[in-house]
Amino acid sequence: MIAPDFISIVVPVYNEAHALKPFLARLAEAAARFPLGHEIIFVNDGSVDGTEAQLLELRKEDQALGIVSLSRNFGKEAAIVAGLTAARGRAAIIMDVDLQDPPELLPEMIAKWQEGADVVIALRSDRSSDSFSKRASASLFYALFARLSEVKLPPGSGDFRLMDRKVIEAFLKLDERARFNKGLFAWLGFRQAFVSHVRPRAARPGSRWRPLKLIRYGFEGIFAFSSLPIRVWSVIGGALALGSLAYGIAMIAKTLVLGVDVPGYASLMVAVLFLGGLNLFTLGLIGEYIGQVLTETKHRPIFIVRESLDAVPAPPAGAKP
Ligand code: UDP
Ligand code: MG
Repeated sequence: MIAPDFISIVVPVYNEAHALKPFLARLAEAAARFPLGHEIIFVNDGSVDGTEAQLLELRKEDQALGIVSLSRNFGKEAAIVAGLTAARGRAAIIMDVDLQDPPELLPEMIAKWQEGADVVIALRSDRSSDSFSKRASASLFYALFARLSEVKLPPGSGDFRLMDRKVIEAFLKLDERARFNKGLFAWLGFRQAFVSHVRPRAARPGSRWRPLKLIRYGFEGIFAFSSLPIRVWSVIGGALALGSLAYGIAMIAKTLVLGVDVPGYASLMVAVLFLGGLNLFTLGLIGEYIGQVLTETKHRPIFIVRESLDAVPAPPAGAKP
């Protein structure tokens, strides 16, 4: 497929009726400096707040808007896949609608891509706009992920990035359901370039991620990219078995030499509880992996489109229509 000379901007939106207009206004300023045309693809991820009506309204004024409405809320990861599937540009930029991914960075990202990078990642050099709990849990997660997984996530990278057409095609070939896009992006490789920015506060209050959903997502990411948590138990189990063997031999020898003695309730309890806890824990871990295997084998689509409207790409600023 030969993509025409424009870039696709992919924006997942979930209950963002009020964020759309300010976002488009800021984006238009940046787009005036694009050296090539553009289309903007909004993926309406099952919003229930009038986002869709607002999108349809805005599209009347700007045909460069494409709308992909999913049949329900599939989550940001699936929405990104839906958006990249619909994107037809020579490259695509994924960004949030709440202006935490500043549109002003786009011309610089496009320039780096035109200089030869396949992926341009916008790093946030500072997360002070996020709440303390979010920063703490994020740094814990990234430290854990770095230890457990072979895939290296560039520190400070999120979904905000530009991808060349060949990267998009490669990304869309990865058809797993337990999606952790940041890991998948890193797994793909390609020639990377970086731009950095200080992540601003969201233009509207709050996050569209409920804390539990975010925690679930974090665990899924780890289980999808590391089998260490499930494999490490054979080593721990082996060490425990060897230890108990040695302990058993020592006990038998002691009983033979010194005779039977009754005390030992505490150590017995400790051993039973510890091993029981360990058993349950590992069983839970195995369950997590089997859960992912089950989800994958069902081969359900990653997202379902209810309705979509194609974009008519806008020419570069200054070009004659
Ligand atoms: N989003 C989405 N589906 C969801 C949750 C979020 O499409 O289920 C979109 C949301 O509309 C926004 C982007 O993903 O454009 C990032 O969401 P948010 O700003 O709430 O995330 P945070 O900044 O807290 O990471
Ligand atoms: Mg945000």
